[in-house]
Amino acid sequence: MELKKFIDKKPYVIAGPCSAESEEQILQIAKELKGTADVFRAGVWKPRTKPNSFEGIGKDALKWMQQAQLQTGMKVATEVATAKHVELCLDAGIDMLWIGARTTVNPFYLQEIAEALKGVDIPVFVKNPIHPEIGLWLGAFERLNKSGVTQLSAIHRGFYSYEKLAFRNDPKWELPIKLREEVRDLSIICDPSHISGNASLIEDVSQTAMDLNMDGLMIETHNNPSKALSDANQQILPIDLENILNNLILRDAKLRDEAFKKELFSYRNQIDILDTKIIDLLNDRKNIVEEIGHFKNKNKLTIFQIERWFDILKTRKENAKNLGIDEQMIAELFELIHKYSILTQTKIMR
Ligand code: PEP
Ligand code: MN
Repeated sequence: MELKKFIDKKPYVIAGPCSAESEEQILQIAKELKGTADVFRAGVWKPRTKPNSFEGIGKDALKWMQQAQLQTGMKVATEVATAKHVELCLDAGIDMLWIGARTTVNPFYLQEIAEALKGVDIPVFVKNPIHPEIGLWLGAFERLNKSGVTQLSAIHRGFYSYEKLAFRNDPKWELPIKLREEVRDLSIICDPSHISGNASLIEDVSQTAMDLNMDGLMIETHNNPSKALSDANQQILPIDLENILNNLILRDAKLRDEAFKKELFSYRNQIDILDTKIIDLLNDRKNIVEEIGHFKNKNKLTIFQIERWFDILKTRKENAKNLGIDEQMIAELFELIHKYSILTQTKIMR
């Protein structure tokens, strides 16, 4: 993929309200964000889960974005979901576009948007699809790049989950990391607002994003968050954004200092040794599992005995608790080990 770098500082900050609600609201927020954010954002067309919610002002709000651009000198960005949106944004001189999570899931829309962008190389951000599938995210970049869009960046906004979590959208940090492995020079912006769904978690999520070496942040900022027409719980005041940015600890990803490198090398070496031991132990365990398999086969016993499994799970979790290791992690680890033990014994029985 041929990419052109357009993000020139870290963290690159995109801020502004979830939705453009009125000209006064847009201009006031933009003015308060000048100097703090690099790009002013506002949603003009809002994809809402249910009808009868506020679905955005539509194209009339593009004029307010132009005014914000003119009065503050900031670059402005909005969400596009169709070729028509792209056309209207280009006519209005919107500087950057982003594709929302509900659009990234749909290759038809992506293709249509990519075609509407042929010959116009403006920056485009692509949010991760709603569900954790990296293929769709990658496919979106490929479609846009094929159309000649080279200023591309990803936005990590978390993933829908059926489980009840503290977050509105499960961050699943391993996915943006995987994306970076697939497309090495793609910049990734984290959207702590849609991950958190709640203003109080934004600072923490922003710090994690920086610790994971992400390139920037997209944070929803409103002049009157509790009265916002969409995403009221997660928006913060421009002054709160300023404080969050000032408090961020930015670590050096390159570790230029040689002594640091040596120390890190020594830690990694210890991890390598421990991992080898873990694998050796798993192999020893597998050998015993096979012996048990032959024993069960000879004595016509079933492979799976629920009491034994409950007992394993219970004792291993207690063990973990005593050592202060995450019990859930140990439970998941043993579920995996157990699954493969059963598979090993099933092969013996055949
Ligand atoms: C938004 O940025 O306001 C938005 C609708 O985000 P997402 O596509 O991540 O839900
Ligand atoms: Mn929003």
